Amino acid sequence: LFITFEGPDGAGKTTQIKKLAEYLENKGIPYIHTREPGGTRISDKIRSLILDPANEEMVNETEVLLYAASRSQHVKEKILPALNEGKIVLCDRFVDASIAYQGYGLGISVEQVKEINRFATGGLAADRSYLIDLPVEEGRNRMAARYETQTNGQGLDRIEQKHADYHQTVRQAFLKLAEENANRIQLINGNRNAEMIFEEIKEDFETFYIN
Ligand code: C5P
Ligand code: MG
Repeated sequence: LFITFEGPDGAGKTTQIKKLAEYLENKGIPYIHTREPGGTRISDKIRSLILDPANEEMVNETEVLLYAASRSQHVKEKILPALNEGKIVLCDRFVDASIAYQGYGLGISVEQVKEINRFATGGLAADRSYLIDLPVEEGRNRMAARYETQTNGQGLDRIEQKHADYHQTVRQAFLKLAEENANRIQLINGNRNAEMIFEEIKEDFETFYIN
């Protein structure tokens, strides 16, 4: 069972994925928790290339291919082996993020982004996806607050630094994807406290898991 979490920056997907991981842990259900871009040693190196604010000259084509390169390594090295062992895979972002951020966000043909990702993943797709939605302003406020309390000197990454208009486009793209893939993507209102959001995810997961 392959489950992905998506949503605009600051929506709270990382918090929710941790809660679902903890729930599976307590139930003794075998799982792994991983994230993109990253998840393996090589993918993490690619992640730093993509997200380093110093790499401002990166062209769109490079960005799409780097996400896909990170993903192919992640799929073959980590996700597929876990699925083959019968584990549930919880993944923080997957192909939907590339369609939203690189396809719609950068204005690259969505068909092309999908094609590149079909190659990268060998056609692997999520069984269930939780799209945690939040108005862009709200997400940015949350992130600003998050970074204020960090002491490691890290600020917004290269993508997070992009103009609010870019992030609006990305949010709308996610909503469109949820509409087009209503049987896979569960749309979740992220503008509530974390416990309420998790109740909804847990309920959905329980229906889905026993079926
Ligand atoms: O999920 P997380 O916030 O850690 O993702 C890292 C960064 O990569 C974020 O700024 C996110 O917006 C960006 N991203 C992206 N395209 C993807 C996946 C993530 O621009 N396909
Ligand atoms: Mg982020």
